[in-house]
Amino acid sequence: MLHTQARQTTPADHSSRARQTFTGNRGLDLEEPLIFEIGRTEVTGIDVDEPATTKTRLGTLQRNDAMGLPGLSEPEAIRHYVRLSRMNAAIDANTYPLGSCTMKHNPRLNEKMARLPGFADIHPLQPQSTVQGALALIEALVKNLLDLTNMSAVAMSPKAGAHGELCGMMAIKAAIIARGEEAGRRTVLVPDSAHGTNPATAALLGFEVKSIPADADGDVHLDAAKALMGPDVAAIMLTNPNTCGLFERDIVEIARAVHEAGGYFYCDGANFNAIVGKVRPGDLGVDAMHINLHKTFSTPHGGGGPGAGPVVLSERLAQYAPVPFIMRERESLRLVEHTEATHSFGRMTAFHGQMGMFVRAYAYIRSHGSDGLRQASEDAVLNANYVRACLADLMSQPFGDRPCMHEALFDDAWLKGTGVTTLDFAKAMIDEGYHPMTMYFPLVVHGAMLIEPTESESLASLDLFVATLRDLAMSARRGEVERFTGAPYLAPRRRLDETGAARKPVLRWSPPVPIRDAAE
Ligand SMILES: *Cc1c(COP(=O)(O)O)cnc(C)c1O
Repeated sequence: MLHTQARQTTPADHSSRARQTFTGNRGLDLEEPLIFEIGRTEVTGIDVDEPATTKTRLGTLQRNDAMGLPGLSEPEAIRHYVRLSRMNAAIDANTYPLGSCTMKHNPRLNEKMARLPGFADIHPLQPQSTVQGALALIEALVKNLLDLTNMSAVAMSPKAGAHGELCGMMAIKAAIIARGEEAGRRTVLVPDSAHGTNPATAALLGFEVKSIPADADGDVHLDAAKALMGPDVAAIMLTNPNTCGLFERDIVEIARAVHEAGGYFYCDGANFNAIVGKVRPGDLGVDAMHINLHKTFSTPHGGGGPGAGPVVLSERLAQYAPVPFIMRERESLRLVEHTEATHSFGRMTAFHGQMGMFVRAYAYIRSHGSDGLRQASEDAVLNANYVRACLADLMSQPFGDRPCMHEALFDDAWLKGTGVTTLDFAKAMIDEGYHPMTMYFPLVVHGAMLIEPTESESLASLDLFVATLRDLAMSARRGEVERFTGAPYLAPRRRLDETGAARKPVLRWSPPVPIRDAAE
């Protein structure tokens, strides 16, 4: 057998269902080795004639070793990837309550639209006259994003939320340079509860990061924020709703304070799904905000596809937006690709952004309409509060019984003395078929468990999820520690050394027999 790592099971296994099988399979859950372990270097999946002349023109560049690529027939290759895909947690298979990530359903209409040849089969270097329809779609999406945010401009090219943060902060930096203040304005204020990408972005651009504490209610501490405002402040980076799932109560006052100090307000818009159609960030005083199309507007993310992080900009920053952007010229649309006479800070990426994601987001927006988008936000908030209320008697909440926005936050105070940690609890959820919620984030909450069900979940699926968590919680309280500390028992792999994997990743597979010998 080629299997190098069959499932590890121990006699202490929680369930007899974890019994070892001969194949390593467990019913429909199939074991699968690496493709290099099942493929054979001497085999290819296709059968083509040897070319008549094999005279090479590569000279010394010619490869003199076998490449070592695993060869598989088509059915073998398909089985390999289908089996791997079945080891993934996926929103298409079950509730995926990963807080801050907005794992919502991607309507299949989006996929159908993205596959239209006029969008899917075009090339970024095609003459602009031949892609007018695609440009028109981007222009329409731009208009929708500006309407939803009440902002002045949008940069479409950033490829993820973090990339959008970089783009927005580069626009802020360009504005500060244009004012001749780059030597003095070097501080960026970031709350303790921020996503790690916020301080990373500010630091990457050479700013000094100062952190603002949270107050007892989970909001940014208003007086602490105000005390830090001064002529050195370039910007504040604030997430709203914040990563505790709460709407920042003092956001308008914080915006006013940073503007009075001569700085800019960057809003991390990753949690926009809670407020679309309810609040326009431009009305709150935001100067720049990224929108994760792959969160709020349902385009796939994680293993499902690339992200897209357009950045909306206020009037004060619009002129510094990166190229490319779309301009209407008489009857046609033109992609402005060079900075020309504008104050644009330059370019974020080659080409124009993630066209397939633009199509999906636009399809989502148009198929929902303005009332549907508002309802999606309301339902996301309702679902999160339902989960929160259904668990509140068993699991402790760090900020009391305050209603949340789109995600419900619990801490680990209720686990005290049980011998079960947040991590153990999350691992036991895997045995129940759920991807765990976000753990240990935000950092301001001890043993945080951040649950974001999104509006995609039906009442029945929420009830099952809640009942599962209640069962787990009561089990922890009853002292059934083994159910947790040894979990997951039923996943294709057991508990892994995640720190080791991150610090010392093994990225290369070495054949048991050197390829040169095998090829002979
Ligand atoms: C997801 C997220 C980001 C980063 O977005 P990516 O698309 O993953 O780069 C930033 N801030 C918050 C609060 C987020 O949830």
